[in-house]
Amino acid sequence: MKTQFAVIGLGRFGGSVCRELYQLGHEVLAIDTNESKVNEFTTHATHTVIANATDEKALTSLGIRNFDHVVVAIGDNIQSSVLCTLLLKELGVPNVWVKAQNDYHHRVLEKIGADRIVHPEQDMGVRIAQHLSSEKIIDYIELSDEYSIVELVATSKVADQTLADLDIRATYGATVLAIKSGEHMNVSPLPTDIIRLNDILIVIGHNNDLNRFEREGL
Ligand code: ADP
Repeated sequence: MKTQFAVIGLGRFGGSVCRELYQLGHEVLAIDTNESKVNEFTTHATHTVIANATDEKALTSLGIRNFDHVVVAIGDNIQSSVLCTLLLKELGVPNVWVKAQNDYHHRVLEKIGADRIVHPEQDMGVRIAQHLSSEKIIDYIELSDEYSIVELVATSKVADQTLADLDIRATYGATVLAIKSGEHMNVSPLPTDIIRLNDILIVIGHNNDLNRFEREGL
């Protein structure tokens, strides 16, 4: 059975979540109180509905409890976002992901059982800063407070050497998961694989080890 998604609030954040899920081939129900917003999404969602997501009856009649994932992307109205999240958890939705406005909002959402709380602006800010801070970093995914995956450009310091020559795991404690060479993606690199100039290394590790590798190894 296909995973059922619902997105509540079709602003910039909710709207892009909805469009992307739909484009990826998922079933998505798009919900907003604003009629013109809902009309905008008729071609970017499986179903669209004008509804107030803080109204328990409206949520029940939409059968929201049958959805696997619900994303609450109600913007500035913290009270509505909290009430909606509470109702979704009470109705038994297993995965409720919520966009938080600030720290207090985050703490309340945590208490009422939101399964994942996102801060898109802050997260994007961190990624942009990481990217800006070094021309070697292409992208960055935070796995936890301490561990990340980074995409790094292979400089002349590592070019034309094998993974065995470089011995990155022993030297830096970081692991090369994949090597992207132009359009070709090598997802199970062997010790004998040679890194070329400007290849992209996808590396997992502790942030300190990744920083050291980026500064000293490349
Ligand atoms: P963003 O910062 O991501 O652009 P916005 O604040 O612009 O977010 O958008 C939030 C959306 O949530 C708006 O389209 C608004 O109509 C919708 N919204 C607000 N309250 C509710 C609610 N109770 N039920 C459903 N949708 C809501």
